[in-house]
Amino acid sequence: MVIESVERLECIRSLKCRECGREYPPIKIYACEDCFGPLEVAYNYDFIELDRKSFQDRPKTVWRYSELLPVHHRTKIVDLGAGYTILHRCDRLAKTFGLRKLYIKDDTVNPTYSFKDRPATVAVSKALEFGAKAVGCASTGNLAAATAAHAAKVGLPCYVFVPSDIELNKILQTTIYGARIVAVKGNYDDANRLAAQASEAYDWAFVNINIRPYYVEGSKTLAFEICEQLGWRAPDRLIVPMASGALLCAIWRGLKEFQRLDLVDDLKTKIAGAQPTGCAPISNAFKANSLDVKPIEHPSTISKSLAIGDPGDGFYALRAIRESGGVAESVTDFEILDAIQLLAKTEGIFAEPAGGVTVAVLKKLVELGEISPDEEVVCCVTGNGFKAAETLMNCIAKPFEIEPTLESLVKIVR
Ligand SMILES: *Cc1c(COP(=O)(O)O)cnc(C)c1O
Ligand SMILES: [Zn+2]
Repeated sequence: MVIESVERLECIRSLKCRECGREYPPIKIYACEDCFGPLEVAYNYDFIELDRKSFQDRPKTVWRYSELLPVHHRTKIVDLGAGYTILHRCDRLAKTFGLRKLYIKDDTVNPTYSFKDRPATVAVSKALEFGAKAVGCASTGNLAAATAAHAAKVGLPCYVFVPSDIELNKILQTTIYGARIVAVKGNYDDANRLAAQASEAYDWAFVNINIRPYYVEGSKTLAFEICEQLGWRAPDRLIVPMASGALLCAIWRGLKEFQRLDLVDDLKTKIAGAQPTGCAPISNAFKANSLDVKPIEHPSTISKSLAIGDPGDGFYALRAIRESGGVAESVTDFEILDAIQLLAKTEGIFAEPAGGVTVAVLKKLVELGEISPDEEVVCCVTGNGFKAAETLMNCIAKPFEIEPTLESLVKIVR
């Protein structure tokens, strides 16, 4: 019943230019004709009737928030079950950091093992609604797998553009789903440039290029879920990883939407943006007290999913961080590896390096006194450790190999 009424509502009002505010009908465009600013989805909030009870009988996926997602037709939704991931209360990890209340939002358990299933389910659904004959994306690896899986579900051909040095498991995963991988000799920015050219040359829906305004909406659900799972409350502090900065912007927008719809009361959340030191253009700009993001020409970090040297949403991410009263910080590969192991050993959660980045940044911000022990903190862990198995294999202890006798066992048991 709820669903039918949603279908009749035109929840999307327009696509609106983030710079000059010009509005466009919600079609397959992504940049403003007047000022080339990025477009974003504007909703008819006055028509959206949601209260906390509305969610009681809804699916446990991102589609429980369908009024706030830019897809009109239920029948076009491509749903592999992304979202509604667990928010773990993490007392053991909290104790090692000296915090009172810490949660991990565990997006390692999405259908393709990263948070990218959130924007991918929305983007591929929208591509279907637009009647696209194929989908594509530029990716540091996780979006490739997420787009490929959702495209497979509806039989759409899928072309992904990735830097040629991404992790083997991400290649494996994406190939298994049947996508065509274009491994570009160069870094993410090179792959992204080529994908942008391809989006002009071919009539495909490129999820993070020509249908980007719709794609980014999916990531808001991370913020929605955190609030809902905390009992309709926004946390004091949120640690968010940054590559292009799109996720952080989406989360900030999501929090503000929930406040606007009275689903949370006061919004006091300070957002901390987290990057690896080997590719930290946004965090560098924050520390230089600048809104001018200087591209990193040669990113170098084990956190490959965050290796975007020229972040498209860097400026907007900085603005969101400042608006929230938060900070940006970066951590070294060594700190990242340490944090991955600490998270795994204290809480049983196995994260890829991007998850190590947020946990390590949290640790650093507590040590620096930026985060106080009394804050309620939520740390986003956005990708699964198996994604980066070859990187992590080098830093673990080898298993004991023994003869199958009790005598040999006794020698190694401490
Ligand atoms: C893509 C990605 C991010 C953040 O990406 P943005 O480009 O900033 O939206 C964070 N973590 C993982 C694991 C990712 O794959
Ligand atoms: Zn404009």
